[in-house]
Amino acid sequence: HAKGAGRNTWQFFTERMNESAARHFELESSLRVALAANQFELFYQPVIEAGTRRVHALEALLRWRRPGLGLVGPDEFIPILEESGMIIAVGEWVLRSACEQAVAWQRQGLPAVPVAVNLSGRQFAQRGLAGTVRRIVEETGIAPALLELEITETTLMQSGGHTLEVLEQINAMGVRLSIDDFGTGYSSLAYLKRFPVHKIKVDRAFVRELEASAEDRAIVAAVMALANSLQLSVVAEGVETEAQLQLLREHGCELAQGFLFARPLEAHQVPELLR
Ligand code: C2E
Ligand code: MG
Ligand code: MG
Ligand code: MG
Repeated sequence: HAKGAGRNTWQFFTERMNESAARHFELESSLRVALAANQFELFYQPVIEAGTRRVHALEALLRWRRPGLGLVGPDEFIPILEESGMIIAVGEWVLRSACEQAVAWQRQGLPAVPVAVNLSGRQFAQRGLAGTVRRIVEETGIAPALLELEITETTLMQSGGHTLEVLEQINAMGVRLSIDDFGTGYSSLAYLKRFPVHKIKVDRAFVRELEASAEDRAIVAAVMALANSLQLSVVAEGVETEAQLQLLREHGCELAQGFLFARPLEAHQVPELLR
């Protein structure tokens, strides 16, 4: 009997494996056509200056409008794009589209607001990244100071010896760099000093329980002290309540992003926000 049960469990297990492998394969092959079929879209979420409630920047967030299945968020497909290498082409599309969009808004007479673009580790590992950024900046005509690139702490730490060189080339163009999801990776404070970084985005894991957790408040206080001494700006991610915002401001954090202010918006909703 025990043997039978074991076999059933095994059968169940392999069926589930096949199912998930099949799903993965299906997802990957649908993604292969997504770029050419124009199924990717950028949403934009504002970073807000708490004091004035003005828009400090707009972060471009990738969405996949999958035929018949609706909108798919990046957590569901970015890993597959990375694994397959497709992230290089999609990432370039994201960068170009965000720059084109920012220029188009400015030409409509809207206030000039920096646009932030997320880069994956795979893009960063390419030697040609700085050249790609330069080419896209030139071709779209965006003012370099209006472009920010976000890289996670983990990406920064894992990328190879050419990291500093690439960051310095990008920095020399006048494009700004932010560290995303700060606090979730393995951070080396020495790197923060060495790399030409302008901004830290504190991960929402530290914002979520700010009211209840003295530890999280201590972490925010420490990040603020560090950022002040290195002259970096700080954005708090995932701010959902006025109470969280209040605590962040008490710690000197004046830039915030989160559902309290706005969810990621479709591009056509942005002009109204900027006016
Ligand atoms: P991220 O760069 O840290 O972006 C912030 C994420 O937090 C977004 O999720 C946003 O919708 C979500 N968020 C914002 N405010 C709140 C809030 O108040 N509460 C909660 N619970 N969530 C909030 P999204 O759009 O699903 O993106 C997830 C991640 O996917 C991003 O995290 C980023 O790492 C990655 N990603 C998005 N677009 C791109 C892209 O174009 N390229 C690459 N390589 N990665 C991207
Ligand atoms: Mg980001
Ligand atoms: Mg983040
Ligand atoms: Mg994130």
